[in-house]
Amino acid sequence: MTRCLHIDNKGQQCPQEAEANSAFCSAHEAPPQIGFRLAAWRKFLFRVAALILLLLILLQAYVLLKVALG
Ligand SMILES: [Zn+2]
Repeated sequence: MTRCLHIDNKGQQCPQEAEANSAFCSAHEAPPQIGFRLAAWRKFLFRVAALILLLLILLQAYVLLKVALG
């Protein structure tokens, strides 16, 4: 088994053993956190896009009603 590659702010390597399929221990596993952040950012972007589309449709409906009712 290899040691976790995480280095703390004092410059010391983590004493824990790394996970079998990873270079870090379970406490310092970095890749899943980055993946999670990316997924959260994507979700936020989709929500903003959906909100803009909804506002555009509502605005068009409002203008259409205004014209139709004189
Ligand atoms: Zn560690």
